[in-house]
Amino acid sequence: MTSSIIDSIIKARYLREGESSFEDICRRVAKAMGKDEKEISDFYEEMASFRFLPNSPTLMNAGTKLGQLSACFTLYVGDSIEEIFDAVKWGALIHKTGGGTGYNFSNIRPEGESVCSTEGVASGPISFMKVFNAATDVIKQGGRRRGANMGILNVWHPDILKFIESKKNEGDISNFNISVMVNDEFMRLVEAGEFDRTWIKHSDTGEEITVGSVWNGIIDGIWANGEPGVLFYDEINRKNMTPNLGLIDTTNPCGEQPLFHFESCVLGSLNLSKFLIEGKLDKTALERSTRLAVRFLDEIIDKNVYPIPQIEEATKKTRKIGLGLMGVHDALLILGIPYDSLEGRKFCEDTMEFVNKIGIDESHRLSEEKSEFPALKGSAWEDYAVRNAAVTTIAPTGTISILADCSSGIEPVFSYAYTRKDTVQKTFEILHPIFERELDKVVKSVAKNASESEELKREAIDTVHKTGSVQGIKWLPDDFKRIFKTALDIDWRSHVLMQAAFQKHVHASISKTINMPNSATKKDIESVLLLAWHEKLKGLTIYRTGSRQSVVLELSSDS
Ligand code: UDP
Repeated sequence: MTSSIIDSIIKARYLREGESSFEDICRRVAKAMGKDEKEISDFYEEMASFRFLPNSPTLMNAGTKLGQLSACFTLYVGDSIEEIFDAVKWGALIHKTGGGTGYNFSNIRPEGESVCSTEGVASGPISFMKVFNAATDVIKQGGRRRGANMGILNVWHPDILKFIESKKNEGDISNFNISVMVNDEFMRLVEAGEFDRTWIKHSDTGEEITVGSVWNGIIDGIWANGEPGVLFYDEINRKNMTPNLGLIDTTNPCGEQPLFHFESCVLGSLNLSKFLIEGKLDKTALERSTRLAVRFLDEIIDKNVYPIPQIEEATKKTRKIGLGLMGVHDALLILGIPYDSLEGRKFCEDTMEFVNKIGIDESHRLSEEKSEFPALKGSAWEDYAVRNAAVTTIAPTGTISILADCSSGIEPVFSYAYTRKDTVQKTFEILHPIFERELDKVVKSVAKNASESEELKREAIDTVHKTGSVQGIKWLPDDFKRIFKTALDIDWRSHVLMQAAFQKHVHASISKTINMPNSATKKDIESVLLLAWHEKLKGLTIYRTGSRQSVVLELSSDS
């Protein structure tokens, strides 16, 4: 990424009065978080070297009057007008500070049911989602960040078909990602092919909905434009670290944080590509940064300015933090390990296991130094006290990975060459640095002289611009092509298996898109969902290339 683009993002989003560089931001954030000079200097070094970055709200608001530092929130939505509009208000307060909100709308009675107070009929959850959507449009998150929402409906809610279709037309409820919360019972019926079986009966209208109509609705929606996402209720709750506090039915906007109503979570990501030494993982450095990151994120829980008291109370009860990785594909590229290989998955699983283990250990140390999280009794941590009920997650790292100039989260690189416009519409050609370095080596070994080598390089880059891939370039060695695959070159099974490899050692969940080719069939989508369920994912997003008109993939004009 060119420094000019990074500079324009820094300027538009993160700089505060008196600041002019990324280092200034790191200084402000480190000072706000560190307990003494040593810790301030350690935190500064972690961020300024791009080994670790906290989520955007921390970079934007730490050390300022706003002081709201978390990216993830979930809220409670009840079935009365008072409760619904309370949630609209709370959502607006959260968006104002740069946070994203998740809502499960299943408490709202279905359309057509009676309303006692007005003797009328209920308009159902989908009509209220439009209100939340409009409110989000109005609040522009302090001008620095778009308002993001997750809207969830349980698969056993009578309005499920209307919900699934609520984003059929592009542009509708555009500030929401929507997800269906499915349970094992539903998935078992699907797998057994019980499509004609009645799944839900509307109590007032008597309308019957079959398993098949819900399942096909989900598949059709995903095939048409990537929505709804799917969340696995039973898996989320089997892995709920604090079952003593109840069941979880909601996640934040990108799905990586299943949370109780009113909980919030601060995220931070380690840039794995910075922890390699002589072709191997530098575990000593990774351990040090993991420990510092846990301290940093835990500190935020106490320093945070919470939008409403309920959120402060719920967050401090469990003290969840969301430490994850970014730059994962970059690390694999440097190591020369294909993303879609057993070796790649093994490396990722082992690395995540290590970060998770160290993260838990640091949280344990913090529990001894300070105190354990208040809801420890009856939780999964009773025998090994920690300060944070959940430590790890995998965030999308949409903006912070651009700042760190690394591949986002655990996603494979989308394209190794593309053009991008900065805020003043100046166009830049962007070449992935590891790709360029390795391509240079290859063309030198294949070409007879310098000018031929230049020609070959140009040809390869032009092909990537045109087709998005190097796979069709005949003269490139197979080894190179095997490693430099893109998100679209990688088959869906490998996408799912990589997510599953990480999920084994992640407390919360994972933000990841399962990319599929435009030619993918509805049967293929069905296979992805069944595999995801069997592989114990907590949720997933599937996107069929080119299926959304507004995001027509312009390989040559964006990332
Ligand atoms: N988020 C949001 N608005 C946005 C992007 C993200 O509210 O425009 C929230 C959302 O909850 C998401 C979380 O921030 O799941 C983390 O997103 P990401 O990792 O992309 O954020 P970054 O820290 O990179 O800006």
